[in-house]
Amino acid sequence: MNRTALARQIIDTCLEMTRLGLNQGTAGNVSVRYQNGMLITPTGTPYEKMTEDDIVYVDNNGQHEEGKLPSSEWQFHLAVYEARPELNAVVHNHALNCAAVSILEQDIPPIHYMIACTGTDHIPCVPYATFGTHQLADYVREGIAKSKAILLAHHGLITADVSLDKALSIAHEVEVISDWYLKLLATGKEIPLLSNEQMAVVLEKFKSYGSWVEEKQE
Ligand SMILES: [Zn+2]
Repeated sequence: MNRTALARQIIDTCLEMTRLGLNQGTAGNVSVRYQNGMLITPTGTPYEKMTEDDIVYVDNNGQHEEGKLPSSEWQFHLAVYEARPELNAVVHNHALNCAAVSILEQDIPPIHYMIACTGTDHIPCVPYATFGTHQLADYVREGIAKSKAILLAHHGLITADVSLDKALSIAHEVEVISDWYLKLLATGKEIPLLSNEQMAVVLEKFKSYGSWVEEKQE
C-alpha cells in the first residue's frame, strides 16, 4: 500500500477510536510500519482536522522528516516494531477503563476467554515511567514481547497486530474486559479465574490468523 493510503488508514483508525469511545481528549496515537520505520500521527493535531500530509515518517533510528513533529510517544511505537517484527500496526489510547485498571499496577488475570485475543492468557501491566521517555519505551519493548495488549501503569493501553483493524479490535476488546474487571473488583468477592488448561484451549483456537475476530461476528 502506498504512503497516502496508509496515512488515510491511520486517520480513519483515529476517528474510529473516538467513535468507539476509546479516546480521552486528544490523548491517543496510531502508527503503521512503513519502509525502514513507521508512519505515525503528529503531535497536537485534532483527528478531525488531520490530513494525509500531517502523518509523519520516523525511521528506525528515530529520525523524523523535517517540518513535521511526530506524536510525543513515538519512541514506544518504534519499540513495539523492534520487539515484534511480525506485527505492523500500533494503537495507543487512554481509554477510560484501561487507564483505571492501569492505576492498580497489576496484570488482568484470565477472567474471560477473550483475553486470548492478545495471544496470551493475561494482560500485562508494565511499570510507570514518564510519557515520551526512553525508559517507558524500554518497558513497552519488554511487555509487548509477551502480549499484543499491555497496560501502561497510571497511563493507558497499547495494542499491536498485523493490521490497524486488528490492533483496534484488540483495543476495543481490552476496554470491555477492563470494564468487567473493575466491576468484578468492586464486588469485593474473590474472582474465579479460568485455568491454564482452559486458556490454552482457547489460545490454540485463536491461533489461526484472525479467527477471534470472526468468532466475535457470529
Ligand atoms: Zn499516552
